[in-house]
Amino acid sequence: MSKSEKRTELEQLGEFGLIDELTKDFEPINDSTIKSIGDDAAVLAPTKNQRLISTDLLVEGIHFDLMYTPLKHLGYKSAVVNFSDIVAMNGTPKQMIVGLAVSNRFSLEALKELYAGFKAACKKYNVDLVGGDTTSSSSGLFISVSIVGEAPEEDVVYRSTAMQGDLLCVTGDLGGAYMGLMLLEREKKVFRESKGANIQPDLSGFDYILGRQLRPEARLDIVQALKKLDVKPTSMIDISDGLASEALHIARDSGLGVNLYEEKIPIDYSTHNMAEQFKLVPSLAALNGGEDYELLFTIDQKDYDKIKGMREITVIGHMVDKSFGENLITNDNCSIPLKAQGWDHMKQDSEKK
Ligand code: ADP
Ligand code: MG
Repeated sequence: MSKSEKRTELEQLGEFGLIDELTKDFEPINDSTIKSIGDDAAVLAPTKNQRLISTDLLVEGIHFDLMYTPLKHLGYKSAVVNFSDIVAMNGTPKQMIVGLAVSNRFSLEALKELYAGFKAACKKYNVDLVGGDTTSSSSGLFISVSIVGEAPEEDVVYRSTAMQGDLLCVTGDLGGAYMGLMLLEREKKVFRESKGANIQPDLSGFDYILGRQLRPEARLDIVQALKKLDVKPTSMIDISDGLASEALHIARDSGLGVNLYEEKIPIDYSTHNMAEQFKLVPSLAALNGGEDYELLFTIDQKDYDKIKGMREITVIGHMVDKSFGENLITNDNCSIPLKAQGWDHMKQDSEKK
């Protein structure tokens, strides 16, 4: 029997056997991890830093679709989206806890793939998996990931502390994750309609946007680079729900208005191409699509010279007095209200065309 065909049923292992099989390769590396997996609770050392804690619950059929999501990618993404929340506070992720509810539809081999994804993410970001809980589910897979991070008190950055006149900056490029999702959903539909006839999904040449959807990264590199340049963002948030929604969070929580320039939004050419195929305006994928896990942050204007040479950072707007409102300055130089419209609106927009 080939390796990929091997299937070990979960009931053959029992709960402890399963936990042991899944977690045996995880060795803690952080000094602040005193006791990892194997006791009633993990033990973390006191530190002079502040502790940052966040959690995410992912539900099969709601947050992920196993028809086109490889389990290893799912593990990686589940971990990384949590790291991104810590990074968005200008902190460093350190310890992770994983809760799993799993039906007997899954084999040990499948869950090992999920844990290979956790492992790859933990290794890349120097995070320790220090515990979790495992239970059965009558249907579907549930993954809960919690993360503990750290930052010196003076480094922590909130979304509510932008100042009038600050520059609004974004990392990387946007809209790719959404166009990757559109492509996967399209190919899933084609596959379903073919009723399993020998039709292979047409995913070649779309590696970039598929990677953006299936295997995002947290921008710890940016947080580290800004620290080296002695630039502390005045406010920061990670882009999980789309640029428009996150910009509104910063503006509203800071008691300010914002001007965001459509023409400045960084969009990769492959995102552009796919948006055109779907008859979508590419900037709408960036504004409303979400799941890019880039950082949106503000800096004092006096720090502009320090960041202007960084290819991975784009200035897309600035913060204004609340009385000016929240505005999107479109490519044809009209000022329209910036709105978090979500996916439904985008679909209507593309149908209207
Ligand atoms: P308890 O009965 O005290 O809750 P468990 O038997 O659930 O303990 O877990 C034993 C050890 O394995 C604990 O250290 C726990 O944190 C860890 N653990 C349990 N499930 C998982 C999981 N899915 N991933 C990682 N660690 C886990
Ligand atoms: Mg338990």
